[in-house]
Amino acid sequence: MAGLLDGRVALVTGASRGIGAAVLRRLAAEGAEIVAIARTQGALEELDDEVRAAGGRQLVLVPDDLRKPGLIEQVAAAIFQRWGRLDILIGNAGAIGGGLSPVAHHAPDDWDEAFAVNLTANWRLIRACDPLLRMAEAGRAVFTTSGAARGVHPYWGPYAASKAALESMVRTWAAEVANITALRINLLDPGPVATRMRAIAFPGEDQGKLTQPDQVAEAFLPLCLPGCSRHGEIVPFS
Ligand code: NAP
Repeated sequence: MAGLLDGRVALVTGASRGIGAAVLRRLAAEGAEIVAIARTQGALEELDDEVRAAGGRQLVLVPDDLRKPGLIEQVAAAIFQRWGRLDILIGNAGAIGGGLSPVAHHAPDDWDEAFAVNLTANWRLIRACDPLLRMAEAGRAVFTTSGAARGVHPYWGPYAASKAALESMVRTWAAEVANITALRINLLDPGPVATRMRAIAFPGEDQGKLTQPDQVAEAFLPLCLPGCSRHGEIVPFS
């Protein structure tokens, strides 16, 4: 039976576990060809085995750090050479910025990591992938945001500030292309989800009571489909 994304090409960051791995499985189950980025090579290889055992296409694995200079541009160039376009961009990789701490106490490296992964890597993805998404019949981009981006969240300083900047940047990009392209660009706010990042922030929490990554992946799918009409929105998981 034909999948909803047969022949579509997707790039997923933060694909090694948690929400990113679940979204990747969901897109693969619909027939997408997927380029998967994360640092943990073994986890990406296991995901590839799993996807192929389920009848999906072989993944293109990029086991590397999104902060590495030139990496994103190289991946975009390789996608152009192989497919001539990108149908779906999932900007999902995230860093918590060293855990919860008063804003005056964060280590500079933790601050830098949060902004490099949560904001700058996504800007570089937009910069490198905008032309490829425009070459697609129905380019789609979805970025994973957080409720921490809005309101006031003590002890979440670098994470909250970088996600707020992500939301501003993505909505700006969406507004710029609204009337001139077929692109549909959105953010998805998953709420609390049972992942490693959540366990670092809330050790001891019963993750069985939280939303599971597979449930969140279902909410990404409509935003990736050619028929998606939402644009420039922060879509809450429900
Ligand atoms: P997770 O299980 O810890 O996954 C984070 C992913 O990001 C991993 O695949 C990790 O891969 C990748 N990553 C981090 N730094 C990277 C880097 N420098 N280069 C390449 N990949 C990197 O956490 P998660 O909860 O699924 O997080 C996914 C997204 O959801 C994040 O943007 C997070 O902010 C957002 N979110 C999560 C929750 C929640 O409750 N879980 C709530 C709101 C928003 P490697 O370590 O293998 O590189």
